[in-house]
Amino acid sequence: MRRSAIDIENWTRMRARAETLTRPSSLAGVASAVGRAPYTNIGGRRSYSDIGLPNRSLALDHCGRRRIIDWNPAVARITVEAGMRLADLCAVTIRGGQLPSVLPGTGFVTVGGAVASDVHGKNHTLRGSFGNHVRQIRLQRSDLGETVAVPDDQLLRASVGGLGLSGAITDVTLELQNVGSAYLDQDAAPLPQFADYAQDLPYLDGYEFSAAWIDMTDPRGGGVVFKARWRCDGDFNAPARREATIPVTAPLSCINAVTTSLFNVAYRRRAARRGSERIHYTRALWPLDGVLNWNRLYGPSGFEQYQVCTPDIEPLVEVCRLARRSGLSSPLTVLKRFGGRAPVGMISFPRKGFTLAIDFRPGRELAKTFAAMDEVVRAAGGAWYPAKYQRLRRSDLERAFPAWSEVLAMRDPMIRTGFLERMTS
Ligand SMILES: Cc1cc2nc3c(=O)[nH]c(=O)nc-3n(C[C@H](O)[C@H](O)[C@H](O)COP(=O)(O)OP(=O)(O)OC[C@H]3O[C@@H](n4cnc5c(N)ncnc54)[C@H](O)[C@@H]3O)c2cc1C
Repeated sequence: MRRSAIDIENWTRMRARAETLTRPSSLAGVASAVGRAPYTNIGGRRSYSDIGLPNRSLALDHCGRRRIIDWNPAVARITVEAGMRLADLCAVTIRGGQLPSVLPGTGFVTVGGAVASDVHGKNHTLRGSFGNHVRQIRLQRSDLGETVAVPDDQLLRASVGGLGLSGAITDVTLELQNVGSAYLDQDAAPLPQFADYAQDLPYLDGYEFSAAWIDMTDPRGGGVVFKARWRCDGDFNAPARREATIPVTAPLSCINAVTTSLFNVAYRRRAARRGSERIHYTRALWPLDGVLNWNRLYGPSGFEQYQVCTPDIEPLVEVCRLARRSGLSSPLTVLKRFGGRAPVGMISFPRKGFTLAIDFRPGRELAKTFAAMDEVVRAAGGAWYPAKYQRLRRSDLERAFPAWSEVLAMRDPMIRTGFLERMTS
């Protein structure tokens, strides 16, 4: 355990000060940390906002507890410690032909972090979000001690998507999905213009996954649609790993208008050439994990992400137009569809409609652009993803997440995060 005050940094290089960092490897260690001082739960630090950043509190890092506690393939159920990364969990269960039904865009997320953000994948239309597959959680709280919660319990509903406020999640029991292979058949097809994605109904024609990459330099918002379905070839072997690493933070951002345009042209051409391919699930679902620390390309100032969901696609066309006008959007813009399955979490982000995530490099126009995009989302009755949008306003949180005050009332009184401070002060 480190005993001096330290900086904690998230994925986008947002920083906060913690009094102390502790990374317990046992349940007793978590229990003692939770009862000791105001604390903040920390997982894989893959959030883009301050939801997992301490606020002069004890940083309780769960990554020291990352074992499988029990796995029963016959009923496709697994119980794991909350600090286990999804990539590590999947690497074990795929050998038995099973995987979590919902996987976000990186495998570096911990199971606890996946519960706390109720993460979604590229198959929301079929499988809902992560919490829909959680069968039990165990928590440590400063006021209640060890507590177990199952799907009908309010405490589970406040913890799924609950931004780490309901206590320290120590173990999670998940229902897994049987898959016939570790490989997918993936098709890439041109998306002529943004709104065409609404015509695409992947869940009607046997595809499990679908998402569109958007070229933000194209005035029509075209790009590439990726669709994929599981193969049934019984091949559960992993391909040889070929990871690149960005070893240090670039002194200046490598992402600018010129590199973005060049990347987009090359990416569209490459996708058009690829057509259909057999692809390992890790490459299809976590393409960015192949370049470790890619966020360092943005330089010391990092970047910001804007992710929202609106019931219809049209408001997102306008959001895209505003983002393009700023000249600050980067090559990473992804559009997905959310289905109608109700989330378990009281303040989960996923809801029926379309979700758009855009990365921005820093710039003077950014504040104005975010304000204008917020206005569009507000008028459309949409919602912002708290894990991704660090400028989310309290009034917007309360409007888009009506159960926020209930979740707040159920929080562990010893929790303290940067996000909580911003939303309550
Ligand atoms: C490249 C990339 C792609 C992504 N793609 C997606 C995507 O497709 N879909 C999606 O939904 N999200 C996506 N995300 C966001 C990410 O899934 C969420 O931010 C997730 O919550 C991060 O989990 P983490 O383990 O890194 O936890 P952290 O970022 O450290 O913390 C996240 C939240 O979880 C809480 N928390 C963590 N562990 C515990 C615990 N044990 N007990 C209680 N609370 C805890 C923290 O307090 C915090 O509120 C992506 C992120 C990246 C970097």
